[in-house]
Amino acid sequence: MVYNPVMRKKYIAGNWKLNNNQKQTSELIAKIIAQGGGFKNADVAVAPPFTSIHAAKQAIGSSGIILCAQNVHFEEKGAFTGEIAPSMLAEAACTAVIIGHSERRQYFGETDETVNKKIHASIKAGLTAIVCVGETLQEREGGKTNDVIHTQLSGAFKDVSDLSKIIIAYEPVWAIGTGKNATTQQAQDVHAFIRGLARQKYGASADGLRILYGGSMKPSNAAELLACPDVDGGLIGGASLIAEDFCAIIRLSS
Ligand code: PEP
Repeated sequence: MVYNPVMRKKYIAGNWKLNNNQKQTSELIAKIIAQGGGFKNADVAVAPPFTSIHAAKQAIGSSGIILCAQNVHFEEKGAFTGEIAPSMLAEAACTAVIIGHSERRQYFGETDETVNKKIHASIKAGLTAIVCVGETLQEREGGKTNDVIHTQLSGAFKDVSDLSKIIIAYEPVWAIGTGKNATTQQAQDVHAFIRGLARQKYGASADGLRILYGGSMKPSNAAELLACPDVDGGLIGGASLIAEDFCAIIRLSS
């Protein structure tokens, strides 16, 4: 199959992290719907905290915003205090879930192995898995970026046989929440590397794989990042908490 960027509709996802109670969730989503311009340019997702998922569902209504969770467990049920199963997310109206965010790797012991189990469990439950990978500053400065990404992807996608429910988010750790985004060259290079790896393993379906950039994306840098041929959207933290900024990024996607 010939590379055809038209096949890949942009995907703009807001990772709210530990922000927005139910009231704030309803208010923010109402603003996003009012200002988002109908979401024609891109698939738009929000990932509220678990306890705000129901409020988000109510506020989303028929707007077409995708409801996404920030984490999931890989077991379906049992003695796993504090965990949420993929089928529970699906029942709560989530259709996507973020897996392997660097904050979960850094603070909560997420590994490539648990990421892999979560991907399998999520796909089984019908969820789209937004799988995060990315290098630290030390790894980048040591020239190890591609090796790190390769290792993370090899572990994460062990025995995953198709890409239809997969989105990958390239999130350089040094760019998350720091205000310092990757340059377009840095982002495009890694995105192209990821697509190349996907092509080696999955063939032509890699051309339809959406690879999001995450790390201090904001209205002032989104246009140039989103214009890179292999950048198919954004996973956005800080700027997704401000309706004006999030909607400006949505409008810049085409
Ligand atoms: C993120 O947490 O996924 C993220 C990209 O955060 P920020 O946009 O705030 O850097």
